[in-house]
Amino acid sequence: EADEMNKPQSWEARAETYSLYGFTDMPSLHQRGTVVVTHGEGPYIVDVNGRRYLDANSGLWNMVAGFDHKGLIDAAKAQYERFPGYHAFFGRMSDQTVMLSEKLVEVSPFDSGRVFYTNSGSEANDTMVKMLWFLHAAEGKPQKRKILTRWNAYHGVTAVSASMTGKPYNSVFGLPLPGFVHLTCPHYWRYGEEGETEEQFVARLARELEETIQREGADTIAGFFAEPVMGAGGVIPPAKGYFQAILPILRKYDIPVISDEVICGFGRTGNTWGCVTYDFTPDAIISSKNLTAGFFPMGAVILGPELSKRLETAIEAIEEFPHGFTASGHPVGCAIALKAIDVVMNEGLAENVRRLAPRFEERLKHIAERPNIGEYRGIGFMWALEAVKDKASKTPFDGNLSVSERIANTCTDLGLICRPLGQSVVLCPPFILTEAQMDEMFDKLEKALDKVF
Ligand code: PLP
Repeated sequence: EADEMNKPQSWEARAETYSLYGFTDMPSLHQRGTVVVTHGEGPYIVDVNGRRYLDANSGLWNMVAGFDHKGLIDAAKAQYERFPGYHAFFGRMSDQTVMLSEKLVEVSPFDSGRVFYTNSGSEANDTMVKMLWFLHAAEGKPQKRKILTRWNAYHGVTAVSASMTGKPYNSVFGLPLPGFVHLTCPHYWRYGEEGETEEQFVARLARELEETIQREGADTIAGFFAEPVMGAGGVIPPAKGYFQAILPILRKYDIPVISDEVICGFGRTGNTWGCVTYDFTPDAIISSKNLTAGFFPMGAVILGPELSKRLETAIEAIEEFPHGFTASGHPVGCAIALKAIDVVMNEGLAENVRRLAPRFEERLKHIAERPNIGEYRGIGFMWALEAVKDKASKTPFDGNLSVSERIANTCTDLGLICRPLGQSVVLCPPFILTEAQMDEMFDKLEKALDKVF
């Protein structure tokens, strides 16, 4: 009985006693404490104490239709009742999987293609890397294995996708693995040199790419991966003309280009794909998150026509592609994804992003006039404000609890969830956000900034 008395009682204490927190700044957690969520209403989440928070983080970029979309819940229920589970192997797959692959190729920027399913974005990137290794080896180039990505990129947490990710924190795992080569992040405001124009910056990055390819050897490079807009790197749209400058170089050296659209896909930038927004055609697309509007854990590799054809040939020759996850192509996930694509594209969600993006930018532009905001940046419904100690020199704040954590914690106290990322605060609300809710988001954020600075 005494032991019973000593057990943690509140939801928050129980959470902090028994769960291991991933991707959580511990000093910040100790300062602010945890939020235990019971349910959601539209773009709001509600905690165990009945407090409502506007979630300008969309869960984790993914709950684009809000937390209680009836159509998505009904699609899930209906499929659970019809057929709750299966895989996409051994020559069998569910009818829902057939329909989703057809749909994904149809809405992709490709004339034809093929789709492979995973449970997450990390696994989709891993799968793509294995496809490239498999393909190049089958084509007689087993040494074509290195992967090119960029610093600040985020591609996931598995050993391979974390190696692709360009974040210093991965050194605690001894990552990246050998053979993962990182190029300069195309963020002009931060990495442009003194006196360098944006055009010169892009030309420098293109030169760096070509020199890297020549140094490493084109026949040792399996592929290049990029998010159209870097998400977890701090919402970094590419410098102007970046993809147009690097694509021809990658083509020249026969290096497949993979667009990681886990965040950008299905409306986040205002179009179906980020590569459409930035006007380039990749060889394959990685999708997850928005794919099911966050209602089911699922990822997909969408191969364009050329990689599809080459993989088909390789698989026929070897007689099997020995890869897949137990729940690959899960029918409930596929049914939800079919509905989610319909909701985003045909219920006006992507349109709402396009309609409200100028208002979003207008409010950020105003906030960025503050002395401690160095830059605002983004597109569609993915934006960031970067805090600086000194605006002219772009000097970051220092200290144990980062300024973005302090802003985010203050926002939480005011009933707004936003994401601290390095020195930046990220706003990526669900696509269903109304004008009034957008005003609520900014009013709370401004109030928080008043308190912190
Ligand atoms: N790729 C990008 C661009 C992402 O933003 C993420 C997750 O945030 C991933 C991949 C990894 O996805 P998951 O967390 O589902 O493994």
